[in-house]
Amino acid sequence: MIRGRSDLSGVRRIVVKIGSSLLADATSGIRREAIDRLADEVAALHARGIEVAIVSSGAVALGRVRMGWGDRKLTVHEKQAAAAIGQPHLMRAYSRAFERHGRMVAQMLLTKDDLRHRRRYLNASNTSETLFSAGVVPVVNENDTVVVEEIKFGDNDSLAALVSLLIDADLLVIMTDVDGFYDRSPEAPGARRLDVVEHLTPAIIQAAGGVGSSFGTGGMASKIDAVRISTRGGVAVAIVNGQRRHALSSLLAGADTGTLFLCSGDRHSKRQHWIADVLTPVGAVRVDAGAERALLECGGSLLPVGIIEVTGHFDKGECIDIVGQQGKPIARGLTNYNAEDLRRIQGHPSQEIESILGYMDFSSVIHRDNLVLL
Ligand code: GLU
Repeated sequence: MIRGRSDLSGVRRIVVKIGSSLLADATSGIRREAIDRLADEVAALHARGIEVAIVSSGAVALGRVRMGWGDRKLTVHEKQAAAAIGQPHLMRAYSRAFERHGRMVAQMLLTKDDLRHRRRYLNASNTSETLFSAGVVPVVNENDTVVVEEIKFGDNDSLAALVSLLIDADLLVIMTDVDGFYDRSPEAPGARRLDVVEHLTPAIIQAAGGVGSSFGTGGMASKIDAVRISTRGGVAVAIVNGQRRHALSSLLAGADTGTLFLCSGDRHSKRQHWIADVLTPVGAVRVDAGAERALLECGGSLLPVGIIEVTGHFDKGECIDIVGQQGKPIARGLTNYNAEDLRRIQGHPSQEIESILGYMDFSSVIHRDNLVLL
């Protein structure tokens, strides 16, 4: 686990996320020199035995240029078409750049849905392990052609965070066009770059522009969201300026460059991370004060007796939120009963489940092992 800059020299596996602005040019298309430079840096890490996966944007930007669509606003389907057009050009540039170092690259296109299904998640994880052991560099992007805005990762920052957990990396490096994370807009007078951040405090979240907004070109709100996902799963995150030469090697050498975010508290188990950060809840149960206390303070399972309301339609095995006294989700987990059956057993002690439903698979509604406090 990375506890400070001096630990960065010991990383074994990293994810490097690089954004469209560094890779694509609105007029001439791909910035081949930027991809070559990244490949050179990654090759230097390979020589030290460090494994690297790249999460690369740029498909839509390249497709747009190739189609001569300028900077006009594209419809969702035009964006998807642009991604389909741009992606092979992006991969060709990576392929050429890594060939110079005798390495092959592999394209991994993922959607949020892929990671939501446990089996597909494990398949993606096994594929990346096989690529690493074959010495091939995974280049990941969102599979833009099959998803629309509502079900997209939103941006490649959160995709990169999930990939960092998927491949069990030590570090996620987000390359952007500012020098790191600043305590206010980098252009504002007196703005100060933060060196190492131990916890994501409300002040930091506010400095990032709050949820859903961002300042300057850094798009910091989505980056801070990615930081939250990765660090909670035990992966440190560095935000660095990808325009600087040797950005990666100087970061790993411990230089005072960019901003390093350390892991927060306990490392979530893989299963808990999957529940908390990958799955989208499809329903909710509201619980009474006793159940809330049992969950928060005693680490208990959720029992039917503590449930006062069930919302939504869901099947057993699906992910649901547990809403507390304040009306906000306090936990999330995989339910052992479907919504209809839950409505019938809510408020009843577990011993009555069998007589009410005619069967009892589990005495708890959500077992502790399938539950994550938020
Ligand atoms: N997947 C998109 C692309 O390759 C980029 C998403 C983003 O990071 O904005 O063009």
